[in-house]
Amino acid sequence: MSGARPALFLDRDGIINVDHGYVATRERLDYVPGIADLVAAANRAGWAVVIVTNQSGVARGYFPESQMHAFHDMIRADLASQGARIDAVYHCPHLPGAAVAQFDVDCDCRKPRPGMLLRAIREMDLDPARSAMIGDKPSDVEAARARVSQAICFRAATCWSSPPRACRRFRSRGCRAASRHSRPRPLRESASSAPARPRRRARCGLR
Ligand SMILES: [Mg+2]
Ligand SMILES: [Zn+2]
Repeated sequence: MSGARPALFLDRDGIINVDHGYVATRERLDYVPGIADLVAAANRAGWAVVIVTNQSGVARGYFPESQMHAFHDMIRADLASQGARIDAVYHCPHLPGAAVAQFDVDCDCRKPRPGMLLRAIREMDLDPARSAMIGDKPSDVEAARARVSQAICFRAATCWSSPPRACRRFRSRGCRAASRHSRPRPLRESASSAPARPRRRARCGLR
């Protein structure tokens, strides 16, 4: 593993873009404030930035995989225009019992399973001991658990279907799950080179 790079693994919906539910078009794309700054800081620190995202909308037939790829290209171009580079995107299009037979698969990559992270670590020569995962659900933390040094459950403006009160409850539940699952060992990076987390939005219920 000599020469292996640290990685910042990012969930997509709720971390890169506001989670309006099965987002796959420009019209429904709103970025989480601060995300370009976070990615750019990780770039400067020499971390690979890797999106790992469950996209069961493909398996449900909500949008084709080709549209999802085009959507990810758009996100990468938007962030690149702000000096923020996404090095790779790993997605899981599967869902057991889903409408689209091709993706009706009990796979090893749908979070909370770790398949996407393990593939990225192998294919991109990443060093999991110096890596971190940021997601907005306990399943993100679970996928990263025991593989990367830190897993953070971060709730930004993702409460697209909940009233603010329910959203706050969910958020505190998610954070408790994160603190239970996260390993306390700090990253070996110095504090100054660790990327900043995106700013939390002051209020919920964007729609
Ligand atoms: Mg998410
Ligand atoms: Zn999968």
